[in-house]
Amino acid sequence: MSATADFREVVTSCPEVVLAAVGGATLVCGTRPELIKLAPLMRLFGDECSVVYTGQHYDESLYSRIRADLPPSNRFHELGVGGGRRGDQLGRTISAVDEVLATHPGRVVVVQGDTTSALAGALAANTHGLPLVHVEAGLRSHDRAMPEEHNRVLIDHLADLCCAPTELNRANLLAENVPPHRIAVTGNTVVEALRAALPGDREREAVLAGQGLARDRYALATIHRPENVDDPGRLAVILGELGRLPVPVVFPLHPRTAKSVDRFGLGRLLEPLVVLEPQSYTTFLALAAEAAVIVSDSGGIQEEASVLKRPVIVVRRSTERPEIAGTFGVLVPAGPRIGEEAARWLEDVAGHRERLRHHPSPYGDGTAAARIVAALGEVLVHRTGSVTAG
Ligand code: UDP
Repeated sequence: MSATADFREVVTSCPEVVLAAVGGATLVCGTRPELIKLAPLMRLFGDECSVVYTGQHYDESLYSRIRADLPPSNRFHELGVGGGRRGDQLGRTISAVDEVLATHPGRVVVVQGDTTSALAGALAANTHGLPLVHVEAGLRSHDRAMPEEHNRVLIDHLADLCCAPTELNRANLLAENVPPHRIAVTGNTVVEALRAALPGDREREAVLAGQGLARDRYALATIHRPENVDDPGRLAVILGELGRLPVPVVFPLHPRTAKSVDRFGLGRLLEPLVVLEPQSYTTFLALAAEAAVIVSDSGGIQEEASVLKRPVIVVRRSTERPEIAGTFGVLVPAGPRIGEEAARWLEDVAGHRERLRHHPSPYGDGTAAARIVAALGEVLVHRTGSVTAG
């Protein structure tokens, strides 16, 4: 029997042995969505992993509020490398991660998504000869103007293991000649992250009551991407569309968007909206689960909509998550289609809720973290020829 076949048997019969064998994983991340989506791996690894938080998102509302809900860890390194220009941030983050890896080498480096922190983690792993795992690999918007697209492509080609959420992501990687043995289709860890954090009915009711909202009678909106908030005209159009929706619009205001609103003098366009600070993950999920419709340019929220079975209007030029198009999501440019699509969802909220309930999420069944650990064990088998616990 080959080492790999042996290993598969160990994975199925005795997952704790695999975790101990893989032990020493270093998870490098620096933003709100990375913390949220790596939480299931943190839970699974427990004390067998270190987390290096670069501080790319350093705002209290995007970091501390999210970290408060994460499993506590003694091995949490905060680097505080946030802010500054992209190149400068990348350079400083690589050196800072590099220093942590020099003193706490671990056995493998895990990065998630498409941020500067993820790219820095990927490059630092190589300096130390450590295998690299890319969680959420193979996403492609094919929009080469996006820095995130550059980061994704680079990380995928550096990674020893690309954990692709869907078959489409796998196909993207194969089309770029990433060898099949470096790819595992795992689903997306957002599914189990969401399930672990979603509050029950009574807590959801309390969240809604706190804002004077009723189930299915409001919209939830988040807008923060540079393409939407760095251009005054586009931001004004989006806020104007949100302000004209025929239901209350709850708008957790991202710090980047708040700065743009101030800078461009667009404060009066916020007046019709229920503006909130960025919310904790659990509170945000409560609001998302009960909304009639979500309007967003976020990547993670598109995936979450498919788990919560809520419709999402994606305000972007392009998306790297086409899997939800035609069911949970519709891609629209900044402009009048925001209002038109919202009207379509709002005219029969109960009917759409019933219809979406029957669509499975394309992002898997909530076992992505376990699948990633299993695939990771196989990578280590290939590298060392054996897996030994402890
Ligand atoms: N989110 C949150 N509180 C909020 C708004 C969003 O916890 O007030 C969560 C949301 O559920 C999703 C993640 O933050 O899991 C999305 O982060 P963001 O939009 O910053 O990044 P992206 O997904 O676009 O990379």
